[in-house]
Amino acid sequence: MLDFIFLTKCITSSQFLIILCFLQITDSLLIHLPSLKPLIVSSSFEVMDQGVPGCTFSNWAQTFTCTPQLSFHPSSEAEIRKILEFTQSRNERVKVVGKGHSPSDIACTDGFLIYTDKFNRLLNVDRKMGQVMVEAGMTLEQLNNELPQHGLALANLGAVSDISMGGMIGTGTHGSGIRHGMLATQVVKVRLMTAAGQVLELSNDMDNDEERDMFHAVQLHLGALGVLLTITLQCVKAFRLEMVQTPGTLTQVVDDLHNYLQCWEFFRFFWFPHTNSVALLQVKSTDKKVHVKHSWFWDRLVGFYLLEFLLWLSSFLPILVPWINRLFFFLLFSTPRHSVERSDRVFHFDCLFHQHVQDWAVPLEKAKIVLLQLQQWLDNNSVVRAHYPVEVRFVRRDSILLSPCYNQDTCFINVVMYRPYGKEVEREKYWKGYEAIMKSAGGRPHWAKAHSCNHKDIQQMFPELPRFLAIRQKLDPTGIFLNDYLQRTLIGPYDNMCAQ
Ligand SMILES: Cc1cc2nc3c(=O)[nH]c(=O)nc-3n(C[C@H](O)[C@H](O)[C@H](O)COP(=O)(O)OP(=O)(O)OC[C@H]3O[C@@H](n4cnc5c(N)ncnc54)[C@H](O)[C@@H]3O)c2cc1C
Repeated sequence: MLDFIFLTKCITSSQFLIILCFLQITDSLLIHLPSLKPLIVSSSFEVMDQGVPGCTFSNWAQTFTCTPQLSFHPSSEAEIRKILEFTQSRNERVKVVGKGHSPSDIACTDGFLIYTDKFNRLLNVDRKMGQVMVEAGMTLEQLNNELPQHGLALANLGAVSDISMGGMIGTGTHGSGIRHGMLATQVVKVRLMTAAGQVLELSNDMDNDEERDMFHAVQLHLGALGVLLTITLQCVKAFRLEMVQTPGTLTQVVDDLHNYLQCWEFFRFFWFPHTNSVALLQVKSTDKKVHVKHSWFWDRLVGFYLLEFLLWLSSFLPILVPWINRLFFFLLFSTPRHSVERSDRVFHFDCLFHQHVQDWAVPLEKAKIVLLQLQQWLDNNSVVRAHYPVEVRFVRRDSILLSPCYNQDTCFINVVMYRPYGKEVEREKYWKGYEAIMKSAGGRPHWAKAHSCNHKDIQQMFPELPRFLAIRQKLDPTGIFLNDYLQRTLIGPYDNMCAQ
C-alpha cells in the first residue's frame, strides 16, 4: 500500500493517462483473445518463483534419478491448480511424487515435479463410520500414528509405511492375506484434480457406470490421471496381531498352501533360494497382551550389517550366495519366534538396504507350480545366484482396472537382488529367467517394481487396459501427466500417442 502511494506521488498526470490507456488495451485483449487469458491471469511468474530449478530426484533404492526443470512443494489445492495451468501454458509435462519409494522410474520426469510433502494433513475423522479423510501426501506412517488416538486402524498394510497415500494407490501396494485385497480396496472416496484443473469426487458407491469406472481407474492410477488431492479410507477398530514365525520347507508349504491360507488371516512366507528352506510368517488378530523381543545383536548387527558385508564379498565371489542364504536361514529363521503387537507394527518388515526388486502376480492356483519351477530352474543353473528372501504373498481378487489381482485371487512372488554399499550385483540372467516363468504362468507385474514389459505385453496381461486408457484420454487429453515409463508401458512409441 505504501509503495502504491509513493508511486502515485512520483508520476505525473500525463504518465498516469498513458498507464490507464495501456491497462484499457490489455483488458480488451483479454476479452477478445480468450486464449491469452490463462497465461496472464494465472500469475505464471508467481508460480515460476515457487519452482526450484536443477534439483535432482532419486528414488529410495537410488536406482533411478532425474533432474526436473522445476520442482514444486505446494501446500494447497489452489497452488496445485496454478502449477497445472503453468504446465499447460508452457506445453510441458508434470509428475507428482509421494515418497519416491517406487523401485522403477515411474515417478521420474524431465518436465516439472510436484512433491506432496506439504500436502499431508489428516482432514477428518468420522468415528461413527470408521472413516478418515487425508491429503494425498500424508504417509501411512503418519496415519498409523494418528489412528490409535481415535481407536481405529487400517485392516491391512504392506511391508513399508514410509509411503504416501497417493503413491500407495498409485502403483497397487499390497500386503498379504487371501481374505484382503490390495490396500486400495480400503479406499472409499477420492478427490482428483484433472489436467484442466477440475476437481472430481469419486466413490465406490456411485450409481453411474462411467463414474464407477473412473473410481476403479483411480484406485490404481499410475500418476496418469491427474493429481490425487484427498483420499477417504475405511478403517476398522484398532487391533493387535499375533505373529508365529516357524521354519519349514518349500515343498511342504506349497502342498499345504490352502490350509495355511484358511488358518491364518495374514499369511506369507520367505523362501531361501538355492535351498528348500522357508520361514512361515503366520499372523492373526488376538486379544493377547503385547509381547515383543527385539535384539539389536541379531536384528541389526547380524541381520543387517553382517549380511551387507557378506553380500558385498559375494559380489566378487558369487559362489558364496547359496552359502550365505543357508547361513542366515540357520542364524535368524531356523527357530520359532512369537510376538504380539499393535497391528501396523506387525505388518511392517525391515527391507534393509538398497535393492532391485521384481514382484509379479500369478493366479493363486499357479503358485505351487511356479515356485517349484523357479526352484528347479535355479538348482539347474549354476551361473545364476539369487539373494534371499523370495517373499511370497497372497491377495484377494478385485475389480480395479489395472490391478494385477483383477478378477483373480493372486500370489505375488517378490525377488530381490541387494546392492550392498550401493554396489550393483549381476542380476540380468536371474531377472530374465524369473520373468519368463512368471509370463508363462499368466503373470502380471507389480507396477512400482522392475519389469521389462512394454505396452504390447501390458495389453495382453491387463484386460481392462482399453477402459483405463479411454479414461486417461478424457482426463488428460494432451498427456501432461505422461512420462517415459507411462509412454513405454501404456501407450508405446511417441508417435502412437494420438491413436489411443
Ligand atoms: C522398502 C520398500 C518396501 C516396499 N514394500 C512394499 C510392499 O510391501 N507391498 C507393495 O505392494 N509395494 C511395496 N513397495 C512399493 C511401494 O509400495 C510403492 O512403490 C508405492 O507406490 C510407494 O509410494 P510412494 O509414496 O513412495 O510413491 P512414489 O514412488 O512417490 O509414486 C508412485 C506413483 O504414484 C504417483 N503419485 C504419488 N502421489 C500422487 C498424487 N498425489 N497424485 C497423483 N499421482 C501421485 C507418482 O507419480 C508415481 O506414478 C515397497 C517399496 C520399498 C522401497
